[in-house]
Order: sequence, then structure tokens, then C-alpha cells
Amino acid sequence: MPQNDRRSIRELSPELANQIAAGEVVERPASVLKELVENALDAGADRIEVAIERGGQGRISVTDNGWGIPPEELPLVVTRHATSKIADLTDLASIGSFGFRGEAMASIGSVARLTVTSTPRGAEEGTSIAVEHGEQGEPMPAAATEGTRVEVRDLFANVPARLKFLKTETTEAKRCQESLQRLALANLHCGFSFTSGGRNVFRFPPEQTLRQRLDALWPPAACRNLADASGEDGPFKLSGLVGDPSQAQGRPDRILFFVNGRPVQDKLLQGALREAYKGRLLAREHPQAALFLELPLHEVDVNVHPAKLEVRFRDEKRVFGLVRRVVLRALEGMGTVSWPEAKPDATGPSTANEPSAEPSPRSTPSQSRLDLRSSRTWSSGGRPSGRPYTPAAPPAPEYAAPLPRDDEDENTPSGRAQIPDIPEAKPAGALPSYLGQVENTYLLLSLPDGSLGILDQHAAHERVLYEAFLRRGRSGNSRPLAIPMDMALHPSEADRLEELWPDLRAAGFELATQGREGLRVTGLPPDLTPGRAVDLLRAALSGQAKSLEDIWVLLACRSAVKAGESLARDEALALLETWAATSNRDNCPHGRPALVRLSAHDLERLFKRR
Ligand code: ADP
Ligand code: MG
Repeated sequence: MPQNDRRSIRELSPELANQIAAGEVVERPASVLKELVENALDAGADRIEVAIERGGQGRISVTDNGWGIPPEELPLVVTRHATSKIADLTDLASIGSFGFRGEAMASIGSVARLTVTSTPRGAEEGTSIAVEHGEQGEPMPAAATEGTRVEVRDLFANVPARLKFLKTETTEAKRCQESLQRLALANLHCGFSFTSGGRNVFRFPPEQTLRQRLDALWPPAACRNLADASGEDGPFKLSGLVGDPSQAQGRPDRILFFVNGRPVQDKLLQGALREAYKGRLLAREHPQAALFLELPLHEVDVNVHPAKLEVRFRDEKRVFGLVRRVVLRALEGMGTVSWPEAKPDATGPSTANEPSAEPSPRSTPSQSRLDLRSSRTWSSGGRPSGRPYTPAAPPAPEYAAPLPRDDEDENTPSGRAQIPDIPEAKPAGALPSYLGQVENTYLLLSLPDGSLGILDQHAAHERVLYEAFLRRGRSGNSRPLAIPMDMALHPSEADRLEELWPDLRAAGFELATQGREGLRVTGLPPDLTPGRAVDLLRAALSGQAKSLEDIWVLLACRSAVKAGESLARDEALALLETWAATSNRDNCPHGRPALVRLSAHDLERLFKRR
């Protein structure tokens, strides 16, 4: 018989139990900091000062002006499963505070030298208690300032296995800073200061706005044009700020989500955000946003793991739809290149403040290759000069069908994208005037604010068409072909065809299958030539299109005027006019810029006049 290695069952010593628990709660200095600051916030503090030394490994101290801890309860603070925040299991379901397990302080005390000094409001004297690597000391009188000060020294000095996993002091300090920044963004009522290695890194007064704090934390470019995003779906509420796509950067770390006041990192929320930015960013760019989702506590499980920032939503579809819709609206509203009305002294003779300015309204050419029927035009006649123009009555769209709402259709995070609710296109206050075409590709414009605009004719037309398709919705018109086109299908294309069938129909393709190997095309979207149609269908069936929106992107690209095509003046003017009235005109649907502008200042710099 093999030797029996069995050991008898024993209870873990409290020290060991705490150390094991500490492995979950306190992974690194930043997680200690987070626990301490959350405790301070739970205690009603509106001023919190944090200082760290050696990346938090040497010392972390958190001083708050919260309601403090009575001396007789001080020993309980550092006792495992002692908490003032829940009393029974019904409490557990409606937990509103950050902590409630009563584990953090005991855990920290087991892996560091911890001192808690507290003076409850109105008390004459303070009390302090120390825990050294799990050994609890006696409460002692201490100097009194109202509130609580927690000091953690020599973190993990007694747990070499944990020490090994820490990164450099600089990295750990950075993580501490980021962790506190997130808490500061989520708790605007509270003042925060952060000092690292004796140097003050930031100081926020209480009662700031989100914009003020982001201004202090993000570089100026990232904060340029931040737009308010807010909206709700029943008790689900989203609010915050989203960044201008033209200021997007190649780093994903300025995507901040908070759920019921907690910073979280969640794939679903990030996915919804990216979906809203789709078509406005290049593949390597990331959105910048700070968004707060509030929802009933029973709709979300934040307790997946005590130290992780993950959440689980009961109704994922609803959350996804809300985030995407609200962000999309904010981006639509942010619009686009806006040209402020020209100041009288900066006004050149050709700016559109003068009613004579080009292009003349309704200059749509009759014989144009640019089919702009689907885009709206507006009349600029009789507009009072010097004020932004608003049309007397918005032109009636020919496609009045209500757009489906996110939460009413089959749209799911992984499912097909759907038609966003695009607000009416607003003409920018004044029209640019057309100077000429360069390289048969770029239209040179004089913008009403005096700057020089360079418009990519293909990108601009693509955007015009794409927005028109969006408005037209699923009712895609079709133009019958005199001679049907037949295409041979690869088996993989046949599979995709099946999936895309309803969307291709909606985009205006009239199709019939011929067994599994053949496709007959009997009608096309009106803007598409047969040659480009085959090219588009091949691209779509090769996997480039997964939704109707994707088909529209392809269709816009194939139907738009190309780079290298010479445009007659009236064609250029017609494009310019519809483009200027189009939503999201800054970018083509792939996210490339449509307009580059050079301000007077830029020109002066280029000519070294300053
Ligand atoms: P939890 O926060 O989960 O309750 P902790 O171990 O973090 O558990 O804290 C234990 C208890 O100590 C809290 O419930 C709270 O009553 C008290 N406490 C901790 N920090 C503070 C503080 N800064 N101010 C007032 N009370 C505090
Ligand atoms: Mg806590």
C-alpha cells in the first residue's frame, strides 16, 4: 500500500486566511489605494488626499474628512468580515456602497504595516490602531483632525511571492495614479489630491465638472470639441463626454466607463462605443470617451470578482443599444466641420455672407454624372446676412418611413448593425466658395471663415451618398436591367449570399439564384453601373459586407465620383452644395478625412510670415 500522505483537516489560522483573501483583494499598490479611497468615499468624505512613496510599495497614505470611526469600533475595522455596510442578505441585493465584504482592511493588515487613525465628527480626541503583518496592536490615543487617515507601509514585505509580481516603481506609481484618476472622475463632488514621491501630481477641488477634470487629465488635443452625450432608456441612463473623431489617437486608454459610479472595463460597453464611432475612425484609431451608465442595481452584477473591474448585465442588448444610440447622437450633433460666420473684417469678397456668393442655390446640373437626387438641397435665398441660416421649412424627405429603434429589432451586439437615427442635416451657416479642381481629385474651397479648404471629391461624394442611403432606409429603389447579368458563384459566396440576401434586396439589387452556382441580377441600385455592380457583389460576397450598412459603404464607394475624374464647374458646385448639407461631412464612410483646411494662421506659418 502506498504511503499515506494524508494530513488531518485543520482550520486556517486567521493570519493565513487573511493572507489568502488578500491575494484576491490586494493585488498591487493600486488596488490597495482603490480600496482605501473607496472606504473614504463610503464614509462621506468630500476631500481625500493620497500620497505614495516608491510606487506605493514604501507607503500609501489616504487622508479623508469623512465621518470617522468611533474608538470602540476601531479594532473591528481590521477584522475580517467586519463591515458597517451590510447587516443581512437582503442588504446584499441592494448594495449601494463600494465595499461591503469587510475584507479589504483585514487583508491589507495581513500583508503590510497598517495604521488607521480616526476622529469621528465632533469628537475631542482621535484614536489610532496598528496592524503589523496580521498582528493587531492596541488602540492608542492620537492627535485629532476630523476624519480618517490610513497608512500602509512596506506592502508585501512579508509575502515575497507577491513582491515578485510587482512591476517597477514607476509603473506601479502610474497604476496608482490611474486608479485614483478614475475614482476622481466618478466622484466629482469630492476633492482629490495625489502626491507621488513628494511631488504633487494633481489636485482637484470639490464640485468640479467632468469637463474640468478631463481638461486637467487629458492632453489639450483630446479635450478639443468634447461633446456631451446623454440619454436614457427607461431607468437606464447614460451620460458623459465623447471625443471628436478628428482628434482620435492610436491609444485605447482614454475609454473610460463607469457603471453606477464604479470604473469598469467591459467589452460590451466598449463594443457599443466603437460601433457608434464606426465610419469616423481609421482602423488604428480609438475613440476617447468618459461615460457613466446608471441602471437599477438588480440589472447588473458587479460582484464578479472583488478586485476586477468587470460587470455582467442582465439585459445586454438594452445596454448596448443605449450606449450606441446616445454616443451616435452626440457625434451627429458634434457634426462636422463648422465654419463660423465670417467676421466683417475678415470677409473676403467671395464669402457666402454675400448673397451673390457661389454656388448659387439650386445649381444642380441637369446633365451631371453626379447623381445627387437622393441628397437634399436647400434654398439659401433671403437669408439675413451675418446669422446662421436655417431653412424656413425643412425639405420633405422622400422616404418618410420611421426608422426602427435599437431596442425594437433584432439588433444585438454581435448581430447586424442597423440604421442609426440620424438627425436632419443642417446646412452650415454659410457656403464655401469654389476655387477650382486640382489633380482631378481635390476641390479647392474658400471657407467662410477665411481658411482654405481642400475637399477630396471621392470621399465627399461617398459621404453624401452614404448618408442618403441611410435616410432612404431599407426601401432601396431598384433600376431594372434591360439585359440581366449572370454571375458564377463560388460555394463560399453562395453561403454569404444567403446571409446577405435580404440586405442586398434592401439596397436595391434584384436577384434570382440559379441553383447554388449561379446568380442572376435583374435590377440594380439606381446609382450603380453594371460594371461596378459586379465588382460590388464580389466584394460583398467575399466577406467585406456583413450588414446593410456595409453594403451601403461599398455602394457609396462604387457609385461615387472617382479620384482622377475631371469635374465641370457646375458638377463641382452641385457636389459642394449637397456635401455642405450632409451630416458627418468631415469623413468618408471609411473614416478617412474628406476635408483638410488650412487656416490663415497655417498659411502664414507655411510662408514663414510669423
Ligand atoms: P468594507 O468596506 O467592505 O466594509 P473594509 O475592510 O474596507 O470593508 O472596511 C471595514 C470597515 O471599516 C468599513 O465597513 C467601515 O465601517 C470602516 N472604515 C474603513 N475605512 C474607513 C474610513 N476611511 N472612514 C470611516 N470608516 C472606515
Ligand atoms: Mg472597503
